[in-house]
Amino acid sequence: MDARSNAGEPRVLINREALLHNARVIRRVVGADVSVCAVIKADAYGHGASIVVDTLCNYPLDEMGSPPCNLLAAANIDEAMALEEVAVPIMVLRPVENAFVGRQREQIEEAIRKQWILTICSGSAADDIARIAMNLQMRAYVQVMVDTGMSRSGVPQEQFGELVKRLSRHVSLRLFGLCTHFACSEDHAGSFTGEQFELFSYITDPLTSAIRRHGMNIVRHVANSGAVFNNPDTHLDMVRPGLGLYGIAPSCICEPKLNLRPVMKWTANILMIKDIGAGVGVGYGQTWKAQRNSRLALVPVGYADGYSRTWSNKACMMIGGKPAPVVGQVSMDMTMVDVTDITDVNPGDEVVIMDDDPRSPASVYHLAMLGDTIPYEVFCRISSRIHRVAVGEPKLEDAETTPQ
Ligand SMILES: *Cc1c(COP(=O)(O)O)cnc(C)c1O
Repeated sequence: MDARSNAGEPRVLINREALLHNARVIRRVVGADVSVCAVIKADAYGHGASIVVDTLCNYPLDEMGSPPCNLLAAANIDEAMALEEVAVPIMVLRPVENAFVGRQREQIEEAIRKQWILTICSGSAADDIARIAMNLQMRAYVQVMVDTGMSRSGVPQEQFGELVKRLSRHVSLRLFGLCTHFACSEDHAGSFTGEQFELFSYITDPLTSAIRRHGMNIVRHVANSGAVFNNPDTHLDMVRPGLGLYGIAPSCICEPKLNLRPVMKWTANILMIKDIGAGVGVGYGQTWKAQRNSRLALVPVGYADGYSRTWSNKACMMIGGKPAPVVGQVSMDMTMVDVTDITDVNPGDEVVIMDDDPRSPASVYHLAMLGDTIPYEVFCRISSRIHRVAVGEPKLEDAETTPQ
């Protein structure tokens, strides 16, 4: 959508240049030989999957034409189906279970036809997918997720051998890869990631060498954004960054040395200005009372849009580069900010609700902290009522890195 076509409506601006910059940063960290699987689940962490996928799949990183990503990862088959046709393979992170229940079967058939990579964690899932693929007279791509300590999805260590045995009996299955997921990789100093990685190697090394001895390929991948930056020894054949691509440090604290650029900026325009006298209360529950004669601005965004009610009387928005504190309770569709200390504020002026400057008091880091949550959740809660608009003309290289 053109940036001007919905001017006046609250909108989330998605900076394609920043997205490609982050993809380039990640590419440099992992090197040319490691594949990058861009995690675009949950509508690309609320950024809008169509803009993000278009940018990552249709613009090269450099003059050699290096692609920003080699694969995409969606949370489930519905998400994968909602994407535009892309040339890169798609992996589905949610493990297949109950393959014959309800709509599951049709979805899995579609995934097999599209050659998406399905994740399995059990022998019964392997059997089910194999039977469905057999019926379609196709081979299904699968990957095995191993539980190495996250205790979420993933086959337990004791059942790995049995699962692999069952897999190998099915000619209609093609083993794409082996993976695990880290629980604490955002923690620079901790040892748990190392322990998980050691266990993963111990469980999967024998099978991997056997497959490779037979001249076949298998892709091992474990690193999320945290491990991309903190655990270079875990990059293996492929990495799976999500948050880092969107320009946020995995620690959820701004880390300038990572050189990431937040991709999202959320803006709106002031709907009206209101002057109130000292002592007058604002909003539901009258939780804020003017200490002095005050000038307020009405911003047409509320908790239904994902602007959390927990930010009432705590967060601020930026107007002309200056912080305007949120006063009173954030309501469903509207929020009031105090502009008494900002000169020359008018209806129609732009308000930055979430800033793409990571040091801004309205950065996603700060909003997440105020709401006792993490940037991931703040992003995912921005509702579909807010238009996602692509901005920033993708360039091949940043000016500072272009050889003179
Ligand atoms: C969400 C997810 C990722 C990406 O995690 P980030 O912390 O956003 O980099 C990687 N792998 C799996 C299995 C995931 O579910």
